[in-house]
Amino acid sequence: MGKVLIIGAGGVGQVATFKCAMNTDVFTEITLASRTQSKCDKIAEEIKAKLGVTIKTDQVDADYVEQTVALIKRHNPELVVNLALPYQDLAIMDACLQAGVHYMDTANYEPKEEAKFEYKWQWAYQEKFKKAGLTAILGCGFDPGVTSVFTAYAAKHHFDEIHYLDIVDCNAGDHGKAFATNFNPEINIREVTQKGKYWENGMWVETEPHQIHQPLNYPNIGPKESYLIYHEELESLVKNFPSLKRARFWMTFGQEYLTHLRVIQNIGMARIDPIIYKGVEIVPIQFLKEVLPNPGDLGENYKGETSIGCRIKGLKDGKEKTYYIYNNCSHEVAFKETGTQAVSYTTGVPAMIGAMMFLKGLWKKPGVFNVEEFNPDPFMEQLNIQGLPWHELHNVDLELD
Ligand code: NDP
Repeated sequence: MGKVLIIGAGGVGQVATFKCAMNTDVFTEITLASRTQSKCDKIAEEIKAKLGVTIKTDQVDADYVEQTVALIKRHNPELVVNLALPYQDLAIMDACLQAGVHYMDTANYEPKEEAKFEYKWQWAYQEKFKKAGLTAILGCGFDPGVTSVFTAYAAKHHFDEIHYLDIVDCNAGDHGKAFATNFNPEINIREVTQKGKYWENGMWVETEPHQIHQPLNYPNIGPKESYLIYHEELESLVKNFPSLKRARFWMTFGQEYLTHLRVIQNIGMARIDPIIYKGVEIVPIQFLKEVLPNPGDLGENYKGETSIGCRIKGLKDGKEKTYYIYNNCSHEVAFKETGTQAVSYTTGVPAMIGAMMFLKGLWKKPGVFNVEEFNPDPFMEQLNIQGLPWHELHNVDLELD
């Protein structure tokens, strides 16, 4: 049905490429390109051995628009799936516009020199994509991605108006390391050390990092301390669902993780500005990434599961109702299937499904869109088929006032 070009051969790229190779009726030609081609070749070899499917590989530094344009021209895909880092988003969008191909990603643009993610830079491409007749699908991982689709699905099928949204993200897994991040350490540490922020009564309320927290019960896991942090899907969800009176995001962290994080910050290793070391310019957080475990390699001994979902309160037929929709994903099952842990898995599977929605013509319209702006139903159907089954609870205690 279609040719896809995936850029980025980290944990998420590995899962998405595996899952595309498991759906060759839709993905008739798959190319994986990244800065380090040997990582693409390794993934391609594993897929050939396990699934018998051939993946083409290539090399690109996606910071350079002309390199990505040349890459696109060599492979002629219909869709580019950007699974590199948020820093490359705008350069890859520019390359897609120049080469006349459609675009999708899982994380919004972030400038390297400032730990600040916002959709404004990518939303500014709306007219350019519209004029070119091209689609750009933003934020199609789990959160953002599935959590946004869950919200759209709830609003479509279970509520007349949604008022309160709490996205709850729990990783109850144990990788056996003293400290490791579950996706790119640089991006992860920048995200979780930011100030907290949530939407209430038409405005953003800022908190100190990790200031607000409380235990929440997660299905099949039990209570876990959950911290209010700012997460990017809040920005688009409050815009696309203006009935929301409040929208928050909660993530679980263990005490060990938080202690390490505090030390990393206190000793200056989370700094994103360059310093001179032995005459060479280095960025401490980038150096730190090199000595931390590679998130893509955590899978082998990872036990336990993730549980991510949306807790929603609103009105249905004039009555107040509560609703909780979630997915639990086992690290061990994810590893068996794709060789990576559940955080890469829960991001890579929705990326493949989003690409499938596009290639099937179900999510295709000129312009720049967040995933909640498309029909959630065919995506929800595929989640159940492709390894991320979801569950619903009606009129339960959401534990969050
Ligand atoms: P990794 O760091 O493991 O992998 C990133 C890959 O991108 C690496 O292969 C890297 O190449 C490549 N890359 C980096 N810079 C460039 C460049 N300039 N040109 C070409 N390739 C480049 O990250 P993850 O796989 O963990 O995460 C991938 C993306 O997914 C990130 O944007 C992350 O924010 C997002 N994400 C989204 C989630 C969601 O739920 N929405 C959850 C988790 C992650 P090299 O090996 O040479 O460094």
